[in-house]
Amino acid sequence: MNFNRVTESDLTVLRNLLGVERVSTGKSELELHSVDETYHRGYLPELVVWPKTTEEVSRILVMANERMIPVTPWGAGSSLEGNPLPVCGGIILDFRQMDGILAVRPDAFQVDVQPGIKYQDMNRVLSRDGLFYAPDPGANATIGGMVANNASGIRTVKYGGTKDNVLKLEVVLPTGEVIRTGTHAHKSSSAYHLLHLFIGSEGTLGVVTEVTLRLFGIPEKFSAAIVRFDSVEDASKAVYEMMGSGRGPAALEVLDRETIRVINQEGHLRLSETPTLFLEFTGASEISLKEDLNRAREICEGNQAAGFQPGVGREERNQLWEARHQAYEFIKRHHPGLSFMIIDTAVPISRYSAMIRFAKEAIERHGIKGYLFGHAGDGNLHVVVAGDFEDSGFVERRDRANEEIVSHALSMGGTATGEHGVGIGKRKFMTQEHGASLRVMKRIKHLFDPKGILNPGKIFP
Ligand SMILES: Cc1cc2nc3c(=O)[nH]c(=O)nc-3n(C[C@H](O)[C@H](O)[C@H](O)COP(=O)(O)OP(=O)(O)OC[C@H]3O[C@@H](n4cnc5c(N)ncnc54)[C@H](O)[C@@H]3O)c2cc1C
Repeated sequence: MNFNRVTESDLTVLRNLLGVERVSTGKSELELHSVDETYHRGYLPELVVWPKTTEEVSRILVMANERMIPVTPWGAGSSLEGNPLPVCGGIILDFRQMDGILAVRPDAFQVDVQPGIKYQDMNRVLSRDGLFYAPDPGANATIGGMVANNASGIRTVKYGGTKDNVLKLEVVLPTGEVIRTGTHAHKSSSAYHLLHLFIGSEGTLGVVTEVTLRLFGIPEKFSAAIVRFDSVEDASKAVYEMMGSGRGPAALEVLDRETIRVINQEGHLRLSETPTLFLEFTGASEISLKEDLNRAREICEGNQAAGFQPGVGREERNQLWEARHQAYEFIKRHHPGLSFMIIDTAVPISRYSAMIRFAKEAIERHGIKGYLFGHAGDGNLHVVVAGDFEDSGFVERRDRANEEIVSHALSMGGTATGEHGVGIGKRKFMTQEHGASLRVMKRIKHLFDPKGILNPGKIFP
């Protein structure tokens, strides 16, 4: 694509539209918007703008589309695959100032929000009505970024990911046209699901300016347990059986020994340093929770659990989930001076144990320091690779391990990315994963964005 550079006259148009304070070409703002949380190198945008209304977003896109200037939406910049990096320069559309809650409808279990609101901040407000939005990535991401990446988290095993919890979107297309897609009904069979085309499209088809989310009541009662195993494969076999037992957990996470060691040290916990499952059930009665936990114990013991610690109290449980959310940050803190790649794949739950074994062997085979953990109940595995990314020998081994792990997940009927999206890093796997349907995706991209100005350089190899 031959994009144009931003000119003085483009800047004048934008300053007239937004005011000088919401248009920046300042070095520090450009640098702040040149990197996300990945190992990918940074790319400087030419300017950053902070829209406040849908009308402003529409007018910015009209101008950029006419002028052939790339536009990349930006939420909190917490992506892990280079998703919001402005690889072709151009304009960063930062949603920090479009972060309002527009309407809460507690009786309908719904909220309308602007895309720049961070989900943890939103949940604090919603908790006053006893409600919460379930998808919970580890970082305090924005709703717009979560929609764009189809993010999920610890609660997905019970409540689904973003795509299961978004009811309606307002989207601005690259031509500036504003459309609304979806419904306030909790189900619909009405025509093509454009809604789900935008969810996970990483800001390449349209820019989300309003979102209606589905909410749940905060569960009154919970029971949690920490289960120790001698091997991470045994832990994942227990996960498989638990998922088949009909007693769906509210969270089911696996962490290998090395990850537990790091979160003990960095998070000041005192967990036994063995492969571990964190599990939680939520429900309305103590009796049913007790039954769920008893069944979980039977399953874990049947899979050689070395210890089953039920009765985890609220404070300890919150600490555990906080530590799990922060596992990646803790690993980074634990290795000052090193760089990190987080490999994210998902496989059918029946193959999870084999996938873990393969990933473990792959990093060992390549002599790489790695940490394994994941949303086991969803078949989602993360492998964090730590090393010196300036060392070309290491980078070669890292990339080979990454390719082997992702390709193996694909060969098992899995996906190259369970929740982090394609961004830059997973583009090379898209042909292998999607085959001929990738051509259809390219045609869809062309239909929505014929000039290719929206978040160019992402998704397609
Ligand atoms: C420590 C840590 C833990 C994490 N854990 C998880 C996890 O458990 N699960 C998970 O899913 N992810 C996880 N992530 C990844 C990340 O938080 C998610 O991908 C999140 O959805 C990114 O949201 P963001 O607001 O930071 O968006 P950004 O990173 O700013 O952008 C993400 C994408 O959204 C696009 N975008 C942003 N706003 C809009 C908009 N309004 N309209 C259209 N496109 C838009 C951007 O162009 C980009 O393509 C983790 C990240 C970190 C750093």
